[in-house]
Amino acid sequence: MRVGIGYDVHRFNGRRPLKLGGVRVPSSRGLAGHSDADVLLHAVADALFGALGEPDLGEQFPPGDPRFRNADSGTFVRAAYATVKRRGWRVGNVDATVIADAPKLVGYKARMSRAIGRLLEVDAARISVKAKTTEGFAPGKSGIAVHAVVLLTRQRT
Ligand code: MG
Repeated sequence: MRVGIGYDVHRFNGRRPLKLGGVRVPSSRGLAGHSDADVLLHAVADALFGALGEPDLGEQFPPGDPRFRNADSGTFVRAAYATVKRRGWRVGNVDATVIADAPKLVGYKARMSRAIGRLLEVDAARISVKAKTTEGFAPGKSGIAVHAVVLLTRQRT
């Protein structure tokens, strides 16, 4: 087995739609970033790379690279997962915590689990997405932060 941890944070920016875990979430504010700023998928991708001992997301997909401008962050997770499979691993489970004071995510967590499960070819029951507010403490107030842990298990042959 291998375990990986991922963390990411993006600042709020009013100019673009909010995407979390591959799901469009209605919000008065989106997140700033070079890609689509899907902070949850970034943390999941980094957890996958971490479990493999691979260079982190920022090193593999440098912010500022014009190829990834407004990119669907599913691309990053798919790239990480392709490496997972190539090395003979599969995803046991993912546990993520989204730290945000707004918007309320209660109605969207299950959809995020399903969307991430599709990217990683596992049942949504193996993908936990939890949401936490910070009661006004940064960074939940001025952006969204995510912690994600992934467990990889050996692919059955
Ligand atoms: Mg990021």
